[in-house]
Amino acid sequence: MELLALPAFTDNYIWMLHNGQHALVVDPGEAAPVLKALQQHGLTLTAILVTHHHPDHTAGLKALQSGHIPVYGPRHEAIAGITHMVGNGETLVWQGHTIHVLDVPGHTAGHIAYVIDHAPHQAHHDPIAFVGDTLFSAGCGRVFDGSMDQLFVSLTRLKQLPDATRVCAAHEYTLSNLRFAKAVEPNNPDLGAYQLHCEALRADALPTLPSTIRTEKAVNPFLRCTEPEVVSSALQHGAKDASPEAVFAALRLWKNTF
Ligand code: FE
Ligand code: ZN
Repeated sequence: MELLALPAFTDNYIWMLHNGQHALVVDPGEAAPVLKALQQHGLTLTAILVTHHHPDHTAGLKALQSGHIPVYGPRHEAIAGITHMVGNGETLVWQGHTIHVLDVPGHTAGHIAYVIDHAPHQAHHDPIAFVGDTLFSAGCGRVFDGSMDQLFVSLTRLKQLPDATRVCAAHEYTLSNLRFAKAVEPNNPDLGAYQLHCEALRADALPTLPSTIRTEKAVNPFLRCTEPEVVSSALQHGAKDASPEAVFAALRLWKNTF
């Protein structure tokens, strides 16, 4: 199975998983990059997964739906074109792979993530998580129609996935997130090396994603709300106390205007 990040708009990725014959895509905000990749690799689209209702994740659905392709999406959001509404704890099966649905509200009130916990028929066994706009590399989504507390709980859930899990986020925000991460944690020794690695990828126009849960636990301030340096930075930026929830909320608000 192959995992591809198809660039869309200015900084979106539409994730495609394929086995040389069948493909699934996640959050097709545009149809054109998907159609091009299908043609290029000689693939048939046989499933679409949607994480949340924002147009940059859904606007390509109509043009891709011409066949009878199942389109999975969040039970608690109204999205035109969804054929299978799914929610927490449910699974779907695609090409012999079991895909688990997790509720990860916060960016939007009904946001879901999809996790393939192992891929038995391939050499590469690491799990894959399609996290939409919940978790980014070195950052996280903004709070739109969900709440700050929901987003904190959702990120805590994602943090508990196995370290090797490949994090497939929907936007290339890594370098700007790293600038913020360095302001929060100037003494985190992992940030510098990761930034150099990501700058080299971007200089070659390559995605910095997927990341891994292991990497995110090391570099992402939003997953590090109990680290002393993160706590003290948050307290200097309006956190009402040193609880992880208050630290998280202060970081998220600070980032909005950074
Ligand atoms: Fe979004
Ligand atoms: Zn988005």
